[in-house]
Amino acid sequence: MRTDRQNPSVIIIGAGMTGIQLVIKLREAGITDITVLEKKESMGGTWRENTYPGVACDVPSHAYTYSFELNPEWSNYFPGGDEIYQYFEKVFYKYGVNYCTRFNEKVTSCVFDEQTQRWTVTTEKGEVLQADLLFSATGILHEPVIPDFPGLDRFAGKMFHTARWDNDYDMGGKKVSVIGVGSSAVQLIPEIIDTPGTKVTVFQRTPQWIVSLKDRVFTEKDKERFRRQPWRMKWIRELSLFSYRQNTAALTGDSLFNKIMHRIMARIARKNLESSVRDPLLRAKLTPDYKFGCKRVVINSTFYEAIQKPNAQLVTEGIDHFTEQGIVTSDGVHHQFDVIVLATGFNPAAFMRPMTFLGREGLSINEAWERKIQAYRSICLPGFPNFFLMLGPNSPIGNYSVIEMSELQSDYAIKLVKHWQKGQINTIEASLEAMQRWCAMLKHNMKKTVWTSGCQSWYLDADGDALAWPDNWNNWVEAMREPNLNDFLAESSEAVIREEVLSDAA
Ligand code: NAP
Repeated sequence: MRTDRQNPSVIIIGAGMTGIQLVIKLREAGITDITVLEKKESMGGTWRENTYPGVACDVPSHAYTYSFELNPEWSNYFPGGDEIYQYFEKVFYKYGVNYCTRFNEKVTSCVFDEQTQRWTVTTEKGEVLQADLLFSATGILHEPVIPDFPGLDRFAGKMFHTARWDNDYDMGGKKVSVIGVGSSAVQLIPEIIDTPGTKVTVFQRTPQWIVSLKDRVFTEKDKERFRRQPWRMKWIRELSLFSYRQNTAALTGDSLFNKIMHRIMARIARKNLESSVRDPLLRAKLTPDYKFGCKRVVINSTFYEAIQKPNAQLVTEGIDHFTEQGIVTSDGVHHQFDVIVLATGFNPAAFMRPMTFLGREGLSINEAWERKIQAYRSICLPGFPNFFLMLGPNSPIGNYSVIEMSELQSDYAIKLVKHWQKGQINTIEASLEAMQRWCAMLKHNMKKTVWTSGCQSWYLDADGDALAWPDNWNNWVEAMREPNLNDFLAESSEAVIREEVLSDAA
């Protein structure tokens, strides 16, 4: 079947925050033949997966909202995961995204056919679908990291990752261990410590810089004002986004202004620690020895207080191995637990994998990324035509709203589709050379960021190159403004072929 460029068929993998807005924006652009394949039984992505106690968003609610669907009903600045899930669910049904979504359809393979110029997508159930345009909207942080601790399998108690929370398990009266002190852990730990009868041991490998931002509850009167005068929530939104943009710039730029901002923020974080933790020994253990912002800044106002409670203990000795009863640390102490929570984060480079993903000439994504995970402007992959990797490499932008990032990427992708519909490009496929130029620019920018100042974080790959966006927000907006068609292939004969991509990956 030949492609009708005016009415292309589209498959979107994933019905999370990105998949939902992508459907809405594609329809607005006149593209209606859309199928969303969602692996689970409901929409919501990260907000469906993460249901641990205390799960919340550390981006202010009015900024963590689609630009086209502001929400006067937010209960507070930093709402819980349930409320965020409900917001996405409301948008999902309001805009009829449900009509084109198929649940319990886990995609197992996507293969590009050179002859038809179409993608064949197969699901675990054996469904085979075809599409002219393929979007992966599977999110960034969805593949939990389960560290390879010696003896992990021997532990006879209960154990789960924060993103696989067992809500039927009652923590009350239990000896609980939490491994990790990242953004998920600091939300979760105070909740467990406050659960009656628990004794909680937190294993910290690296302390975090933590900034406490005041929450604010929106009263019924506030909400009524937001409903009547939407400019009020727009104002809060813009103010929040503005301040988060300044913070991002301070961590990724090297101007004098950025440096001053960085110094002020670092001082705020240190003051937070000093004024929150009384015991000098505990404070020393909680004090990072790396620069503020080198790891993603943790925003939280409950962890420091919680870790000082009598039923809490912070262990900084390394984990040596697991036993049937618990964990032995490097000092030989055997810590015994009923339950171990792995708050150990996510693999930021899993993207749509595990999945068979084959582009031109059978080029697999694993081959193309064998040495390095990279993409042109986060979205386009040479050798994988008419495919869009939403929130791909270099998408996360510090603590900034990933919804803003995702919306801009959708707008950019749709602009490319329009050029393709008009015949201005043959396939939507960036050239290898354009991707190399883009990656060289990222490498150059990376030197200006605080992320390379000497710490380990998921912002960096194994070579110390960027996995997040190593620049300020304005430059991302600029990068997404208008596609540069010179970076895309005009003719099929220019197509990136397997050997070129493989030699670049070697
Ligand atoms: P994370 O920030 O990557 O933290 C993982 C924690 O586990 C770190 O303390 C890490 O220690 C520790 N860890 C990992 N492997 C370990 C090992 N082998 N031994 C000992 N400790 C180990 O993960 P996360 O807390 O799940 O957060 C991930 C990201 O999700 C965040 O950065 C954020 O982007 C997002 N998130 C956002 C929110 C929000 O409110 N918006 C909430 C939760 C999560 P090291 O530091 O030493 O590696």
